Amino acid sequence: MLIIIGFFVAHWYASVFAQSFFLHRYMAHRMFLMNPFWERFFYLFTFITQGSSFLHPKSYAQLHLEHHKHSDTEHDPHSPHFLKDVISMMINTARIYLEFKNGKRASSSPYIQGLPTWDRIDRIGNSHWVRLVFCGAYIALYLWVSPPLWMYALLPVHFLMGPIHGAFVNWCGHKYGYRNYDTSDQSRNTFIWDVFFVGETFQNNHHKYPNRLNFATRWYELDLGYPVIWLLSKLGIVVPR
Ligand SMILES: [Zn+2]
Ligand SMILES: [Zn+2]
Repeated sequence: MLIIIGFFVAHWYASVFAQSFFLHRYMAHRMFLMNPFWERFFYLFTFITQGSSFLHPKSYAQLHLEHHKHSDTEHDPHSPHFLKDVISMMINTARIYLEFKNGKRASSSPYIQGLPTWDRIDRIGNSHWVRLVFCGAYIALYLWVSPPLWMYALLPVHFLMGPIHGAFVNWCGHKYGYRNYDTSDQSRNTFIWDVFFVGETFQNNHHKYPNRLNFATRWYELDLGYPVIWLLSKLGIVVPR
């Protein structure tokens, strides 16, 4: 049972960190720079940690910039104020994400063309077979450990880890919590200390300052992702812009 709890926590944090650090702050907002080695390291890290729910980095960036541009309007890919429940929001988000990935929708952001891609990882990560292999590996681990029956209910969270993180952030971060800034959208800061989503639920702070590396802006707020990025910058792995 402890092995399963450990695996769940490790998968949760590795995956949400990959989404926040690489997909969101690096790809979509270009908040810092990395050399080609570290860029590929974190590209691979994102593929492995998101596993069965790997999100194509460039398409994620395109989708996310649409969210900033049209936040909480009818053109927002995932506004909880225009979509009636979390499932419809996830379906609409997936639809627009796939349109970007399949080249059926063009991005209006000028720097999208310059974003890094890695054809081999994109191809492998987006293969249905590879996604099934990851799902099979999660199931195999559970069967091998043989935890109490109720713990098998965690398996769907492993299967859809990336989209589940995204759905929680987008739904709660625009619906529940407090506001520091009077932005034109409905963004909120859901937690004062965001320890579960490594800072991503500070949506109100983030929409006010979209390029600010630290999503916490008040002295009492904690963006758990920021100290890690600060450490990476001290190690010379990332260079804040
Ligand atoms: Zn938002
Ligand atoms: Zn953003």
